[in-house]
Amino acid sequence: MSVVIVTGGSRGIGAAVCRLAAARGYDVVVNYATGKAEADAVVAGIEASGGRAVAVGADVSDEADVTRLFAAAAARGPLAGLVNNAGITGNTPGRLDEQDVAVVRRVLEVNVTGVFLCARAAVRAMSTRYGGAGGSIVTVSSTAARRGSPGEWVHYAASKAAVEALTVGLAQEVAAEGVRVNAVAPGLVDTELHANAGMPDRLDRLAPLIPMGRAGRPDEIAEGVVWLLSAAASFVTGSVLPISGGR
Ligand code: NAP
Repeated sequence: MSVVIVTGGSRGIGAAVCRLAAARGYDVVVNYATGKAEADAVVAGIEASGGRAVAVGADVSDEADVTRLFAAAAARGPLAGLVNNAGITGNTPGRLDEQDVAVVRRVLEVNVTGVFLCARAAVRAMSTRYGGAGGSIVTVSSTAARRGSPGEWVHYAASKAAVEALTVGLAQEVAAEGVRVNAVAPGLVDTELHANAGMPDRLDRLAPLIPMGRAGRPDEIAEGVVWLLSAAASFVTGSVLPISGGR
């Protein structure tokens, strides 16, 4: 069974990716930072449907934690994919000149350093250069990378632009080594992220600006992620796929 790691798999988009990947036959490593109960519930749901999964706690911005996360995956079989989904906004919406540097540093640490650490470990596990059999890395960016998110979280948007540059550059480095690297860029998606940032009305406020008139669902993002993971996307690398209802 092909093993995939989904970072931040305990809630929202990551949890939907875990469920769909398991339904498509992957053995899923459901990573979380603090939400063990939520991750355990995702695993229980997958197992109840006849799939295979395990929950592994690890902070993606911590090198030793990432080493432990990939060792836990390796114990289940050769790694076939990584979904670099874990991401945070910092939960302090507002103008850039109002932001605290500690918040900005933490957002960059999780969203950029975390993606780097996991992508590096995945290349070492999957690239033919290291004796691997190849695989697929999917990073989760945001349409914020091109919109800039003025008045809310410019630092978060900047972190996602960095994720897209990393995706496009790494894709070219490892294209001849059997590893594809792509990103999905979700638009507004109905998860806890918005309420946790103190903006429970954000989905209703922004939905009218979306040509389709609504926020996306996590399972709609998961479809794109799991397609990019799969052999159906065998000639796709270095791509950024917006899944955003047209905005
Ligand atoms: P969410 O509901 O807030 O879930 C975030 C997930 O990331 C949780 O599973 C959380 O685990 C995990 N996480 C946070 N920090 C972590 C760390 N340091 N190490 C490991 N895991 C960590 O977020 P979401 O809305 O599903 O977003 C998922 C991804 O999509 C993010 O990269 C986000 O930027 C991106 N995105 C979201 C939207 C949207 O509208 N929702 C739009 C565009 C892009 P714990 O619960 O254990 O902390």
